[in-house]
Amino acid sequence: MSGGYGLTGQGRPTRSEDGPEAGTAPATFSGNRGLDVEERLIFALSRPGVSGVDLPEPKGLPTRIGVRTRTEAIGLPGVSEPEVVRHFVRLSRQNYSIDLGLFPLGSCTMKHNPRLNEKLARLPGLADIHPLQPVSTVQGALDLIHTLSHWLKVLTGLPAVALSPKAGAHGELCGMMAIRAALDARGERRRRVLVPVSAHGTNPATAAQCGFEVDEIEAGPDGRVSVEAVKARLGPDVAGIMLTNPNTCGLFEREVKAIADAVHAAGGYFYCDGANFNAIVGRVRPGDLGIDAMHINLHKTFSTPHGGGGPGAGPVVFSEALAPFAPRPWVTDRGAGFALVEDEVEAGTARPFGRLTAFHGQMGMFVRALAYMMSHGADGLRQVADDAVLGANYVLARLKDEMSAPFEGPCMHEALFDDRFLEGTGVTTLDFAKALIDEGYHPMTVYFPLVVHGAMLVEPTESESKESLDRFIASMAGLARAAKAGDTERFTAAPRFAPRRRLDETRAARKPVLTASEGAPASPRAAAE
Ligand SMILES: *Cc1c(COP(=O)(O)O)cnc(C)c1O
Repeated sequence: MSGGYGLTGQGRPTRSEDGPEAGTAPATFSGNRGLDVEERLIFALSRPGVSGVDLPEPKGLPTRIGVRTRTEAIGLPGVSEPEVVRHFVRLSRQNYSIDLGLFPLGSCTMKHNPRLNEKLARLPGLADIHPLQPVSTVQGALDLIHTLSHWLKVLTGLPAVALSPKAGAHGELCGMMAIRAALDARGERRRRVLVPVSAHGTNPATAAQCGFEVDEIEAGPDGRVSVEAVKARLGPDVAGIMLTNPNTCGLFEREVKAIADAVHAAGGYFYCDGANFNAIVGRVRPGDLGIDAMHINLHKTFSTPHGGGGPGAGPVVFSEALAPFAPRPWVTDRGAGFALVEDEVEAGTARPFGRLTAFHGQMGMFVRALAYMMSHGADGLRQVADDAVLGANYVLARLKDEMSAPFEGPCMHEALFDDRFLEGTGVTTLDFAKALIDEGYHPMTVYFPLVVHGAMLVEPTESESKESLDRFIASMAGLARAAKAGDTERFTAAPRFAPRRRLDETRAARKPVLTASEGAPASPRAAAE
């Protein structure tokens, strides 16, 4: 073992003992550092025969499963209820969350989740219903879905919406499947999809997943896509374009309308990645820009929790051209009550491509998003976008001379920096981000967008006060000055004040250690050294 790391009970490396904080603090007997508790895997806490429930085994119950009867224990950890609670609370304390501090992760829009939304989502009439209940018993919930659909259509200026997609990326899949269904209905096999190099990685992945060939378009020196660059690639085999607006450089695509017109003239469709709708909501209606399909991340624009890959919602709005192909189910207002169109397709133009999920989407997220919309109102939502853009521009204006910005002029909802200001300092973008952890912040997005060298993408969102932004800016400016003054160690040794220091993420991804036994190296670094 090199680098002066100690080992925990699991053989996992702890902190460096030769860091600057060493010497001032004695090693503790528990391995904990005050409330920074050294927590083991739950499997390591397990003891045979221990359980959170102490009901006796039911006796004489006949099994009805026959050969599929389990014969061995399923290997759940044996821990008592208080142990389970402590385990997860201790782990949660090692986490960083939007409720803990500013979360400047660009492109992710980590905005405050208002408690009013939480309160409404927990109302029993909304929280305790089941998707298989008779529709006559869930009229209020269907009304709510219908109302949310209405506001999404009004805000985007588009005539249809599919609510079942469960994340932005899932929404992309929904939109591109609708495009494919529309092309199939036209009897055309167009196979190429144009995707700017600055796109979120999910865009080319989605296009490829739907069987399209991805054709990358370069961005211009101003970080935007030009209509000429698009026109140069258009042809009879182009199914459409996937464009993000505002784009991932935090810039508004100025030629978006001309791009839409050109794509339509060539017989293609315009998919817009609307993850950044939070920057323009209430100000710009995507329908007016010629967009055919766009996902809206309720967890970005409408303040629902991100949920750690859990219960997300990424509704997709559609133009007249694609609306008939939107997936089932949807809610209709039959005058005498709301109904769900699940299987039979009503007489008309609807030709749904199928369904994306078992049920109707994430009800809890719908409640929260609608609560957010209604508590802000039309003028309030416009102010949300204004404040998000103002906050990002404040960060950009205050830091662009301390750091370096790749593009001239103001930004939209996120401020983008590159690593030119670190040139010759021996500090990389990654080191800079790690030093921000020691300052008590979650790092900004790094090395994305790919079109900018050593990118650092900062998105404060409208939730932050000026005081909070000032404190963050002071840390960023302090770090920038320290790097330029040659205080390299501050960066290369960072993070010093985190439960773990730097892990070998590549190795963890390529050679994951998935066993939970005490003997196995439980971290990539332990495996490496
Ligand atoms: C966040 C984001 C996505 C993906 O959304 P998920 O909900 O995380 O699947 C796609 N595109 C852009 C530009 C994004 O910022």
